[in-house]
Formats: sequence, C-alpha cells, structure tokens
Amino acid sequence: MHRLEFLTPLYRAALVSILIFTSALTLGNQQAAAEEELNEKVYIEHKCFDYYRRPVLNVRNDSLSDVAFSDLMRHRGLAMGPMMIFNLKRLARLSKASRTFFVMHECGHHALGHLYFRARGRFAEQEADCYAIRTLIRQGTFTLKDISDVQNDMRRFAKASLYHVSGKDRANQLMKCIES
Ligand SMILES: [Zn+2]
Repeated sequence: MHRLEFLTPLYRAALVSILIFTSALTLGNQQAAAEEELNEKVYIEHKCFDYYRRPVLNVRNDSLSDVAFSDLMRHRGLAMGPMMIFNLKRLARLSKASRTFFVMHECGHHALGHLYFRARGRFAEQEADCYAIRTLIRQGTFTLKDISDVQNDMRRFAKASLYHVSGKDRANQLMKCIES
C-alpha cells in the first residue's frame, strides 16, 4: 500500500487547517511580542535628564499602582540616582498622546528638580503637567488633537487625590499652561 493513501481529502484538509492555524497563532504571538517590544522602546529608551543634567534610568514595573512614578534610587538610605518607573500595562490602556504625555510628565519631575527640592503635592504635579505639554508642543510632537486626547483621558481616568486635582480640573489647567 502506498503511504499517501492515508491522506484522504478530509484528512488532508484537516492537516492543512492545523498548519494554517498554527502559523496564524505564531504570527499573532510574534505581533504581540513586537508590539510589546515597541512599547518597551518608547518608554524605556526615552532619554530624560534631571535638574543636574544626570541621565534618568527607566524601569518597567507592571505592578505599580499608577501609570508611572519618579524616584531616586537608594542604596542603604543613600540617594544613588534618578529613575522613572513605568507600568506598561496601565499605559497601554491610554491613547498614544497620553502615553507620550505621561512619560514627559515624569521627566518633568526630574528636570524641574522636584525630587531634590522635595517639591511634592498638587503644585509639583501641575508644574510637571505644564512642563510636559509645553515641551511636547515646542518640539512639534503634539497637535491640538493630541492635547484633546490627553484631556479626554484625564477626564476619564484621573482621580482627585492629595497630589492631583480632579481629572476635569486637571484637563482645564492643561490649557492654562499653554496660554500663560
Ligand atoms: Zn507626577
């Protein structure tokens, strides 16, 4: 008996669809991996320099309870250097403009020296927002559409806290940064 006789049309069709399915799955995984890598590049390779022109290290931590956070690395209580921590899973839920904005907001905390001068609270947050929006407009990165995307995300997601005014107020203040 010839071996290929086992490959009845039905069997062949099944085999072919399994092959197609497997390669589609692989392609899907590859695409997801590529997107992940792209995200990682955008955030992790963002070049930021602090108040003293020191490079800021970018770290990924998807269990962070916020989209991003800035800190000074510490070793046995000694400040070692500036760092930004990103939760890429949370950032991925926002619009592209917001993702760019929040990375620049964190960079703003460093560039303005907030971590060295212990400037915290609502004033520092607003200053970092203004830094981000002004920088992105000056660079030519942001259009009016991008600004309104950021404002929409703020209205939807940002909550009032010790550090932040309500999302609605924060979105309104963003326009004041540009006007003043
Ligand atoms: Zn902040």
